[in-house]
Amino acid sequence: MYDTIIVGAGPAGLAAGIYAARGALKVLIIEKSGIGGQIATSWEIENYPGAPPNSNGPGLTERMREQCEEFGVEFATKAYRSSQKTENGFIVETDAGSLETQTIIMATGAEPKLIGCKGEKELRGMGVSYCATCDANFFKGLKVAVIGGGDTALEEALYLTKFAKEIIIIHRRNELRGAKILQHRIQENEKISMMLSSVVEEIKGNGLVEAITVKNVVTGEIAEVPIDGVFVFVGQKPNSEAFVGHLERDARDYLITDDEMRTNVPGIFAAGDVRRKSLRQVVTATADGAIAAVNVIKFIEELK
Ligand code: NAP
Repeated sequence: MYDTIIVGAGPAGLAAGIYAARGALKVLIIEKSGIGGQIATSWEIENYPGAPPNSNGPGLTERMREQCEEFGVEFATKAYRSSQKTENGFIVETDAGSLETQTIIMATGAEPKLIGCKGEKELRGMGVSYCATCDANFFKGLKVAVIGGGDTALEEALYLTKFAKEIIIIHRRNELRGAKILQHRIQENEKISMMLSSVVEEIKGNGLVEAITVKNVVTGEIAEVPIDGVFVFVGQKPNSEAFVGHLERDARDYLITDDEMRTNVPGIFAAGDVRRKSLRQVVTATADGAIAAVNVIKFIEELK
């Protein structure tokens, strides 16, 4: 019987682990794949307070994992399936057996959204990518498109300049959404050009990406652009499907919590990108994790 099971080992889950274990709880973090969550694919972290120069996602989250282990957090590779309320807490069903716990912290994060155009799914992994850190190396000296105008698209476009010879940012509106400092760096970079007010209608290729069809949404003009790779950064969707009918979600499927990270089910908390919030960053994920863990500790004390 665990005091708390944390579902997800990104910054929110790892921070919750550190705080819960320092509060003398018996803690298990379950994670279906690798440690670190989405930030583990980030090549540079400039805005996590106190992060040393040249910090990256894998390094930062690996240190969080070590901290968890130093305080006695257990880890298991299991995928969450469902949970049922019992007299003493919850039974958590996973793809590899069931577990018992008094409380649960859902820190399942979010994942990249697809553009939904023709050819995207078929050519995924064959030139269509959602992670520059993972795949940029394959595009040395080649021409790539980056889809999206948010912080992620701009940061990843800048990263891609270290590998690709030419990067075209394709954005559906006539102004970018990303931070001004990133926009400034983009404008100054000779390798980057932009197609604004434009959407990708089709990704073409026979086995590997060869071209994209781009439509200008103002003029209606359609252009076929030869391209070697397409990097898609058009936002995220929360990993909250397993909670349908159980935990309350908003219209965009993010879990609804109060300021103390409590969901609508007493004993189940949520932290990080999976919850409805205004800013999804490592710093807010770790803060959520800390708040969730402290409230788990209070919840368990009140049961006594
Ligand atoms: P985002 O801010 O939601 O931006 C998504 C971009 O994709 C927007 O420009 C959006 O266009 C476009 N888009 C959405 N759906 C599309 C579609 N179907 N087809 C074409 N374009 C589409 O997502 P994000 O860049 O992943 O960032 C997520 C959060 O993380 C944000 O809060 C961001 O500030 C934060 N973040 C911060 C940093 C940092 O500070 N270092 C780095 C990465 C991310 P519109 O603009 O027209 O809506």
